Amino acid sequence: MIEVYTGNGKGKTTAAIGLAIRAMGHDQRVRMVQFMKGWEGYGELVTAKKIGLPIEQFGRKEFVDKDHPEERDFELARDCFDRAMEIIEKRECDLLIIDEINVALEYGLLKLEDVLKLMDAIPSEMEVVLTGRYAHPAVLEKADLVTEMVEIKHPFREGIEARKGVEF
Ligand code: ATP
Ligand code: MG
Repeated sequence: MIEVYTGNGKGKTTAAIGLAIRAMGHDQRVRMVQFMKGWEGYGELVTAKKIGLPIEQFGRKEFVDKDHPEERDFELARDCFDRAMEIIEKRECDLLIIDEINVALEYGLLKLEDVLKLMDAIPSEMEVVLTGRYAHPAVLEKADLVTEMVEIKHPFREGIEARKGVEF
């Protein structure tokens, strides 16, 4: 089945990682690819190495400028998409998490038709999670499970910066 975790509230990527932990408990094979992320200091990346959860990052350390993405951002997004497609076609895992794919689409780094093609390629025995704000209505339509994280409160609004172990 295809799951989507979207919305502007906190908890999308961490929910997907929680699912990975659950699936691994049943000896399921899990893979995670990340659009627009290239920083190696995320706590989950360090833990993932220890527990044998493969996370492949396709991004720069810096944030992508939505209005002026660099050529490199397009290349990395293409590489991430191709890798996700390869994992699906080769049935490399039981659970595949495609982190921030919704944002990559919203930023114009991916084409909607390609994302829909990818969704169509997912075999029935594979669970795939698509995360990120701004999920496209056509993606929501095609998904089997959609959860929207709604921001009711976030300390960021009070000027509190990203916290170690909480945001990264
Ligand atoms: P998390 O990784 O904590 O599960 P997320 O995947 O839902 O969060 P993203 O939309 O990917 O959140 O946001 C990236 C970063 O911004 C994360 O570090 C996250 O904690 C933080 N964040 C999430 N929601 C908000 C918000 N409403 N305002 C500001 N920052 C947020
Ligand atoms: Mg996220």
